[in-house]
Amino acid sequence: MNQPMVKAEGVHKRFGSVEVLKGISMEVARGEVVCLLGASGSGKSTFLRCINHLEKIDAGRLLVDGELVGYRQIGERLHELHDRDICRHRAEVGMVFQRFNLFGHMTALENIIEAPMLVRKMPKAQATERARELLARVGLADRGSAYPNQLSGGQQQRVAIARALAMSPKLMLFDEPTSALDPELVGEVLDVMKSLARDGMTMVVVTHEMGFAREVADRVVMMHQGKIIESAPPEQFFGAPQHERTRQFLSKIL
Ligand code: ADP
Ligand code: MG
Repeated sequence: MNQPMVKAEGVHKRFGSVEVLKGISMEVARGEVVCLLGASGSGKSTFLRCINHLEKIDAGRLLVDGELVGYRQIGERLHELHDRDICRHRAEVGMVFQRFNLFGHMTALENIIEAPMLVRKMPKAQATERARELLARVGLADRGSAYPNQLSGGQQQRVAIARALAMSPKLMLFDEPTSALDPELVGEVLDVMKSLARDGMTMVVVTHEMGFAREVADRVVMMHQGKIIESAPPEQFFGAPQHERTRQFLSKIL
């Protein structure tokens, strides 16, 4: 039970000749909230996508909840996972993107019940009951029958969070969840994320919301050109950043 939820050991990822992740090593403990910072192009999204089986790593080891991502070890040898197993693993990790990615032809409620019914074979009545609880949890109890285009960006993003939670994930990944929102809608999404963190969800959050990182993160991790250059609790990270690049980054963003 003490094993970390995420364990990366020397993770490398390249696209063609470009090495995007150059040996990422980090751990995320159970219940921990880690905020991932870094300039555009530093590899943050790629790293999240590797954790969620959307990209295959080229070298190193990546484990989620003690299981290798993408591979199964039999004896000394690694075998690539079958799609079916990848789906099973991915279903246990929730991901929320910058763009809300809701199905436009489905209501909020239908968006939320889709995966539990399809992937988990949950009966519709049960999935619906759970979806209503989740809508209430993200403050949208009365918007279940709304279509995405009838909802604000902040509301859509809260539905996207509810949809991810419907699969009862053991880990939630957020990739700049508020970057596409009008400023006045950012707070309502961050509030939902804060309440998730308080409830003990393990979260890796790529964000430029420094107030959130300061308040909610257990640890802040700085990426630069495919490497982790700094990792510290927020007081230390913001109060006394060690790396020159971190100081530069913070001076631009704060
Ligand atoms: P960040 O999220 O920190 O902005 P990304 O992980 O999106 O960074 O990208 C890191 C680098 O990898 C960038 O140079 C980007 O152009 C490149 N990259 C990301 N995805 C692909 C891809 N599918 N094919 C080729 N290059 C990619
Ligand atoms: Mg990104």
